[in-house]
Amino acid sequence: MGDHVHVRLSQGLSVSEEGDLIEHSRCRCGATFTKVFDAEEGEPEGPPRF
Ligand SMILES: [Zn+2]
Repeated sequence: MGDHVHVRLSQGLSVSEEGDLIEHSRCRCGATFTKVFDAEEGEPEGPPRF
């Protein structure tokens, strides 16, 4: 088993308590990855908007 480029197979999406979108993926070798998308990236801190 040598080094290889991980292949990120999407395992689905979830949402954190902060409201961020989290993408779960894993490689056939067993490595797992999570990628977080900030729901309000670039948004200045302030009162929550609804
Ligand atoms: Zn891998």
